[in-house]
Amino acid sequence: MEEVAPVKIFNDIDSLKSYLKELRQKGKSIGFVPTMGYLHEGHGSLIKASYAREDHTVLSIYVNPTQFGPAEDLDAYPRDIDRDIEVAKACGADILFFPNDEVMYPEGYATYVEVENLTETLCGASRPSHFKGVTTIVTKLFNIVKPDRAYFGQKDAQQSLVIKRMAADLNMDVEVVVCPIVREDDGLAMSSRNTYLTPRQRQQATILSKSLKRAAEMLQSGVLDSTTILEEMKAMIEAQAEANLDYIQVVSERTLKPIEKVNENALIAVAVKFGKTRLIDNLTVEVSES
Ligand code: AMP
Repeated sequence: MEEVAPVKIFNDIDSLKSYLKELRQKGKSIGFVPTMGYLHEGHGSLIKASYAREDHTVLSIYVNPTQFGPAEDLDAYPRDIDRDIEVAKACGADILFFPNDEVMYPEGYATYVEVENLTETLCGASRPSHFKGVTTIVTKLFNIVKPDRAYFGQKDAQQSLVIKRMAADLNMDVEVVVCPIVREDDGLAMSSRNTYLTPRQRQQATILSKSLKRAAEMLQSGVLDSTTILEEMKAMIEAQAEANLDYIQVVSERTLKPIEKVNENALIAVAVKFGKTRLIDNLTVEVSES
């Protein structure tokens, strides 16, 4: 039987780097799952995907301040590190990295990474500095961990696309693997932020996945016109008393630019606020050549 390595926990960059360097020198593959913690089965699926393929899986938990806007939920973001350690172990992560702000952004910190074009729309329009924070922290984490592959969720479709773009543009030696959305039984996409919802909001929040399901049915029945699809989805969402639509769009999966007709691979992306809680979900539409 293969020997199972004990879980190692790191809080500082140098000791994590030297531990990983030894593993790399032994020819071990390294998978990496960056998260903000408060782990659920969505995160678990990324850890399991890495565990299935890699010799070692690094999980990072860091609530990155630079990706939160001034009026957003940085301080309120849910945290439960002890539970996260248990979930991470159970899913197969064997190296955990929990840095703090001083470690990631020491005094004098001045460098940021920005991806253009893909970051101004959808979530980038509602959260103007968000992706700059994401690409900066992910670059730093990639430089620290130097993974063979990094695992991200399709739940954050725009983020995954932006990270792929960045990795390609900056010639990073990492393969970006995107894993499917994990949902609750009633269809709600799992999210650490679901914990903020009141019971009534939680019930109404299923409208995101329900409206996307309706869009899929319309496409299946041959309705390819974006306006028709979006109007129906919008009406469904706006019928929920607590729902405030942030955006809903049909965009090209490649460019994230709106498309009028679904005749190329597309993404239907939606963001809805319930009180202060902003939820996102999406559907990818594959269009075959024929
Ligand atoms: P977060 O902790 O929210 O920053 O998410 C960390 C990673 O988990 C990101 O790559 C997310 O896309 C992914 N993730 C979050 N929720 C889900 C989900 N429901 N299904 C699959 N992946 C997810």
